[in-house]
Amino acid sequence: MIKPLIFFLSFFILLYNIFPQSISENYKVADWFNFKDAAITYTFDDNCTNQLKKVVPIFDEYNYKLTLFTVTNWNPDWEGLRKAAGNDHEIASHTVSHPFLDKLTENELESELKNSAELIHANIGKEEPLTIAYPYCRPGKLSLIKKYYIAARGCQGYIEKKTPSDFYNISSIICGSEGPVKTVNDFNARAEEAARLKGWCVYLLHGIDDDGGYSPLSSDTLRKSLDYLKNNEDRFWVDNFINVVKYIRERNSLIINETYQSNDTIIFTVNDTLDDNVYDFPVTLRRKIPAGYQSFLLLQKNKELTSKVIQENEQNYVVFNVIPDSSEIIFIKNETVKIKDELKDRDFKSGRLNNYPNPFNNSTNITFSLNEPDVVKLTIYDILGRQVDSISKIYASGLHRLVYYADKLTGGIYFYTLDTSRGRLGVSKMSLLK
Ligand SMILES: [Zn+2]
Repeated sequence: MIKPLIFFLSFFILLYNIFPQSISENYKVADWFNFKDAAITYTFDDNCTNQLKKVVPIFDEYNYKLTLFTVTNWNPDWEGLRKAAGNDHEIASHTVSHPFLDKLTENELESELKNSAELIHANIGKEEPLTIAYPYCRPGKLSLIKKYYIAARGCQGYIEKKTPSDFYNISSIICGSEGPVKTVNDFNARAEEAARLKGWCVYLLHGIDDDGGYSPLSSDTLRKSLDYLKNNEDRFWVDNFINVVKYIRERNSLIINETYQSNDTIIFTVNDTLDDNVYDFPVTLRRKIPAGYQSFLLLQKNKELTSKVIQENEQNYVVFNVIPDSSEIIFIKNETVKIKDELKDRDFKSGRLNNYPNPFNNSTNITFSLNEPDVVKLTIYDILGRQVDSISKIYASGLHRLVYYADKLTGGIYFYTLDTSRGRLGVSKMSLLK
């Protein structure tokens, strides 16, 4: 155990010594998605009829995502829930039979937790739900809840800070006739408070209009509260419960490393320490734009990342979203139009050009096929689009494997093109380890 630990630590110490300041000075992780001031989540309990009939269509209109905490043996409208899940609303657990969880035996509790998740999974067709809302806001035995869920909602009535102190009892505020949030002004005031606190406001709703549910709220009030958030979209991030949980956990465990730096190229990775099967939500980052980067490319897996440029205290930053552990990002000064055009040209999905192994050490195999005999020219470019190597050879028709020996090159990322007299076979990228 000790040796791997020392290796692990020295790895990080090494990285820390190489790029200690650049990371903290150059990068900033957004507290909330797209650098908004607050996160706002609407959650709905107890399968009240108008949640699917009225609320989901309203949220779809605004393109906002909500969470429906479903009691699985209270005759849920599975077809309606499936449709809602298809529009990326979260269908999560509110147990099987809505008991007081703290009054159950361990076996009873486990079957409430497990069976509700399995039923939702079986009926919705997506992965098992990862969050739960406690009936009557009363938690049960934590070790069992942790076994099935990554977060749980209570209803303590306060706005959560930017990181909840307890992911297994995240506070929500009851809305409607029985709660403190009844009017549009109440909603707007809570949203503003969340923005002031840079926090997370979770609403808990039940009945809508006259569907007979607990603590009813009018759909008109709900719509007006969404209007306010839409009109202030630059400050409020509205999303469902699970997405906000994922965002917080990812943002708090993010590790950014710059693995390559030159005057015109920066390569960095964005990782976290979490399970990638669960934590797959994009995190918002900004990076200082170095002087001289009048125009640039931000590439991940050879595709341009959507980004925008913002200015703060006369410093320019590029803002972008990235899923942690997804793959390295190349931030490159765009001097050569040529390479940009070629990057756009390439069609990676078709798999026309492929080299293996990749990354490679010294030699790699490039496969291609020809309909007719032809001269094939392989050209290697560095990351700035400068030609660094080329070879030409005549090939017969058919499938071929060209072995490229990178004796001339130093370690790094290169682009290559393969051309014939009849045209280009493709463009791709390779990483040389030396
Ligand atoms: Zn309930």
